[in-house]
Amino acid sequence: MAAQILSGKTIADAIKAEVGEQVASLESGYGFSPCLQQYVWGEEPASEVYVGNKIKAAAEVGIRSEHLHLPVGTDTDELLNLVRSLNERGDVDGILVQLPLPKHIDERSIIEAVDPEKDVDGFHPVNVGKLSLGHRSLVPCTPAGVIEILKRSNIEIAGKHVVIVGRSNIVGKPLAILFLRENATVTICHSRTIDLASVTSQADILVAAIGRPGFIRGDHLKAGAVVIDVGINKAETDEFARELFDGDELDKRLKAISTRGYTLVGDVNPKEASQKASYVTPVPGGVGLLTVAMLMKNTVEAGMLRRGI
Ligand code: NAP
Repeated sequence: MAAQILSGKTIADAIKAEVGEQVASLESGYGFSPCLQQYVWGEEPASEVYVGNKIKAAAEVGIRSEHLHLPVGTDTDELLNLVRSLNERGDVDGILVQLPLPKHIDERSIIEAVDPEKDVDGFHPVNVGKLSLGHRSLVPCTPAGVIEILKRSNIEIAGKHVVIVGRSNIVGKPLAILFLRENATVTICHSRTIDLASVTSQADILVAAIGRPGFIRGDHLKAGAVVIDVGINKAETDEFARELFDGDELDKRLKAISTRGYTLVGDVNPKEASQKASYVTPVPGGVGLLTVAMLMKNTVEAGMLRRGI
């Protein structure tokens, strides 16, 4: 039987509806409306798309948001000064600098300059430390979204063997901590893991956060596994699309390639995963939508934490 699709849209919509209600009650109860400030780099079309989605979501839930477009010539010191000025603004609850930043910008110093109380990405070392210690903190949006997908789909996490492929600071590592918090047994794999398939095929829940299109194949999976695909990549040829999709989905993907030159795909081969797994998340329409919804949740959480609510 083909795996069930875990729709990110249904879950993200439910989270945004809850955040919208929370925003309304904070306004009436405490007289503040959360505000998110986002910096996006000059000529980064992918970042523009992500920030555009975040602006739209903020409007949906009633969060005030400002989108500050950085001129291409901006240097590290200028960006540091901009971030510091937002740190000082009492009406700003969340600050987000869209990554990746261009090579001439010192990304680490920018991340560390954001006031940890306004760090809605959850990347500041203070928030990373609090997450590890299990204290209340701002949690990175994509890992938090993965946990929400599972919980809201009533998929048991406690006691399960979770294998995460990818150990980045923004996805793999914080996600491992969140799964530990949920009492899973966690294995993290990376590019130096020997015989990856022998490890991933032990997973009850497999998370792919690699950045390689269609990399996880059927033989990486245990029968009945839950597969969460974090990857967002481009597939640009008809031949590759045929390896990943069939039926109506293939037709849709081939059309996208012929009209705009690519189709978005995850790190998992969906055609093969669907034959072996019990549940899979789609790309697009899966984890990515949760990332945006969790950013809204974090902005409200940041406003509450800072005001001691
Ligand atoms: P990243 O920083 O490039 O990390 C990739 C990880 O994959 C690394 O730990 C790397 O291992 C591992 N890896 C690479 N090749 C491998 C291989 N052959 N076998 C096993 N492991 C391998 O990427 P990221 O920022 O975590 O992002 C991962 C993917 O998620 C990307 O497609 C990105 O676009 C997507 N993403 C999506 C969202 C969302 O909202 N859905 C959010 C963030 C990222 P090493 O550490 O050994 O190099």
